[in-house]
Amino acid sequence: MKIAFLGLGNMGGHMARNLKEAGYDVVAYDLVDEARRATERDGIEISASGEEAAAGADVVITMFPAGKHVISAYRGENNDGLLSAAPENTLFIDCSTISVDEAREAADLVHDAGHRALDAPVSGGTAGAENGTLTFMVGGPQENFDAAHPLFDAMGKKVVHCGDNGAGQAAKCCNNMLLAITTIGACEAFTLGERLGLTDQALFDVMSTSAAQCWSVTTNCPVPGPVPTNPASNEYKPGFATALMAKDLGLAVSALESTGTEASFGRAAHEAYTKFLDEGHGDLDFSAIIRTMGENQA
Ligand code: NAD
Repeated sequence: MKIAFLGLGNMGGHMARNLKEAGYDVVAYDLVDEARRATERDGIEISASGEEAAAGADVVITMFPAGKHVISAYRGENNDGLLSAAPENTLFIDCSTISVDEAREAADLVHDAGHRALDAPVSGGTAGAENGTLTFMVGGPQENFDAAHPLFDAMGKKVVHCGDNGAGQAAKCCNNMLLAITTIGACEAFTLGERLGLTDQALFDVMSTSAAQCWSVTTNCPVPGPVPTNPASNEYKPGFATALMAKDLGLAVSALESTGTEASFGRAAHEAYTKFLDEGHGDLDFSAIIRTMGENQA
């Protein structure tokens, strides 16, 4: 099976390497020279363009920043993009995080061009990509899912078939909206606890083992100390960047709009993260939003 892997950034470079190490025949491409060279050092063949990689492939995997990049690469400027370059019935797997509507549009383009489509966004961050422990949330027909399953296994540890095309992005969008809300909630609880005279450790010991237990407390605790491996214990770096969380919440808000869903906490989380991003904190882990709490208060 020949795989064209396109988009060799913070995530894609590692994912391509894990496929190669699992024994797949991978040819890769990125618009950025530095990303191409890093992947070449991993022993992966680099093509002259995305289209050239797609031309000889059974599977085309994309890991781009946003939906506009996926759709424009699929189409090309004059309908000469990846879809026209790939042999008939190629399996297109988009692992980028994009909106549900864009994912459905992309899948329609793929089907209209005589190919097969899956959306397969991931969770687990750059460490998950590096260690091959990502979670894949997959949307598309069962037979496409079955065909792609071994590839997901090579790059991740958990694969969930969420439904038809777009369902993977729908799951990612709901997951990250809840994650933002629980993180803001954890930040508020630790801020209040400190003002009530509690130590962070005491509050952590209670909340991590009681009904308030969640990933935002037990793993990504927003204060330094109780979880020495968390970003908060390292000046909020690295981690899941605020810029990415703000982007994902933008996708969630567009899904709330298109489905007529109120979700006031999801919208409030989007506002809070957009403000935090605009204040110049885009590269900090998103749990750093605790730094804004307590300002303008007391
Ligand atoms: P990134 O910006 O580091 O990498 C994206 C790469 O795509 C860039 O190197 C860019 O040059 C390349 N690219 C764009 N258009 C291209 C084209 N037409 N042909 C070839 N290459 C092209 O982004 P990332 O951090 O790797 O994230 C990729 C996707 O994964 C995003 O949608 C992001 O939201 C999602 N994601 C990221 C993380 C994370 O922790 N970084 C976690 C989960 C999901």
